[in-house]
Amino acid sequence: MQKEYVVGVDLGGTKILTAVADLEGNILARVRKDTEAEKGKEAVIQKIKDTVYGVIKETDIDLSQVKGIGLGVPGPVNIKKGVIKHTPNLKLDNVNIIEELRELDTPIFLENDANAAALGEKWFGAGKAAENMIYMTVSTGIGGGVIINKEIFHGAGDAAGEIGHMTIIPDSDVQCGCGNYGCWEAIASGTALGRLGREAVEAGKDTLMSKLVNDPSEVNGAVVAKAAEKGDKVAREIMDKIADYLGIGMASLINIFNPDTIVIGGGVSQSWKLIEDKVNSTIKARAMNSLIEDVNIITAQLGSDVGVLGAVATALAELDLL
Ligand SMILES: [Zn+2]
Repeated sequence: MQKEYVVGVDLGGTKILTAVADLEGNILARVRKDTEAEKGKEAVIQKIKDTVYGVIKETDIDLSQVKGIGLGVPGPVNIKKGVIKHTPNLKLDNVNIIEELRELDTPIFLENDANAAALGEKWFGAGKAAENMIYMTVSTGIGGGVIINKEIFHGAGDAAGEIGHMTIIPDSDVQCGCGNYGCWEAIASGTALGRLGREAVEAGKDTLMSKLVNDPSEVNGAVVAKAAEKGDKVAREIMDKIADYLGIGMASLINIFNPDTIVIGGGVSQSWKLIEDKVNSTIKARAMNSLIEDVNIITAQLGSDVGVLGAVATALAELDLL
């Protein structure tokens, strides 16, 4: 029997989305289960296996026709050894996942989830024409993946692309989840957007945001974006501030990597129209002109499938099928 399929597993803190795809990345079937990370390591590993068996069952193919399984993991990984090093939201630290999934009898390929998402957008989404691409996802945090000559740049320990932890404001009093102060994701993510909105409402500013919520604590990034869309001046100013910070970080990425494409994903990409002009003007002010001319900044296309298609792309890339 010919082996003409791959499986992608998007392992998340709250759900596992697994799909079987052909070698062009067309999804034949998908299975989604709650991760239930609180049940512990063995339960999560069993659930990964269940989704693989389950998704194969949805099709008329056999697991023996699957050439490889790509696994996107929310944390740093050791790709060669097949080890999940650390997962803030799962109890899978220092787990050799290739060993644990041995019974599937199929090659397993690990990738950090943001890097996998970058591969997904590169091969199946907004970045199809890209050779040197940066994928950035701006939601509760800022993550990313760097693609050089159509391949993920992994770095010395498979951890390259942690773009959200560039220090942008050295004397900031906003602490990042990583422990540092003034990281890009601490000051320019959707979380930061919500925080600035909340502070404005709590300070009693005259803003539509206070009418969109029952309590100031409910102000999040989506509320600020909604108020800004309706023309609220305070919310607009906050969006501009975030846009400026995003532009500062992007200008550095442009100067360092000279990408042909930057793909913007995550929740903030939904509000891209609101911030695009300000982001571009900051980039124009801060990046080198000749490099700005080379780069095309576009929004992501894969939506909630980015993780699972990224895992599919990871398997295809490792099998030299892209
Ligand atoms: Zn950080």
